[in-house]
Amino acid sequence: MLIGAHVSIAGGVQNAVERQLEIGGNCGQIVTTSPRVWKEPAIDDDEAAAFKRETAASLEGPWVIHSNYLINLATPKDDLRQKSIESLQADLDAAAALDVPFVNVHLGAHTGAGEEAGLENAISAIDSLDHPEDVTLLIESDAGSGSKLGGEFDHLATVVDGTEAPVDVCLDTAHTFVAGYDISTPDAVDETVAAFDATVGIDRLRAIHLNDSKHPCGSNKDEHAHLGEGEIGATGIGAVINHDAWADRPFILETPVEDGKDYAWNLERAKELRSA
Ligand SMILES: [Zn+2]
Ligand SMILES: [Zn+2]
Repeated sequence: MLIGAHVSIAGGVQNAVERQLEIGGNCGQIVTTSPRVWKEPAIDDDEAAAFKRETAASLEGPWVIHSNYLINLATPKDDLRQKSIESLQADLDAAAALDVPFVNVHLGAHTGAGEEAGLENAISAIDSLDHPEDVTLLIESDAGSGSKLGGEFDHLATVVDGTEAPVDVCLDTAHTFVAGYDISTPDAVDETVAAFDATVGIDRLRAIHLNDSKHPCGSNKDEHAHLGEGEIGATGIGAVINHDAWADRPFILETPVEDGKDYAWNLERAKELRSA
């Protein structure tokens, strides 16, 4: 099973490898800068070389770079759009420098422009990027609160089909669930897999953010919970982890660190549910 967690690059990007190994992960996710301010990634060549060497030596699965949370590809505002494009470009370039195959991004919010215009904005922003060879941009499924796009599989399909760029999808289980796709039972997971396959196509799914949800299906409220302890529950998370359609994808934890439970606890829980 390919599983890991979102880990820090504090002290140098190469430190992410050791942090991943400490919690028992064999793949994972990083951000290249503080994700809530606009800042260029600052990764020097020695650190990049060490990261690549240690990743090749000790990790089985891929890394994903999660782009800045401030990015809004769907926005109708020119200045925010420009900053978003520059920030995402910097992460695509960082991924190329680090041999990281995936950069993950949310579509953002149309803030009143309408769904169709928002999706068109996102597609043209993605098309304006210089996509490095061997780096695939992943559109992450969203919780769909307010005017945010990407909660509905149709939004993901529109973007993936509408761009010529190398773009696939990352499903976040907590987001998918609160966006209205039930995954709390084996039958519900089958239905959600079928709905995804009929719109986006299962071959476009390249990574899964594995999180339980503190809020119910369809609530559009995004708060992650420990695996098996949220509204998706152990039965649903188990059905997700073991589903044939995507069991070979990398699973990346973005679970909270609270109540005495951390990533290592959630990773162990995922492995228990995998074999169950
Ligand atoms: Zn995300
Ligand atoms: Zn996520």
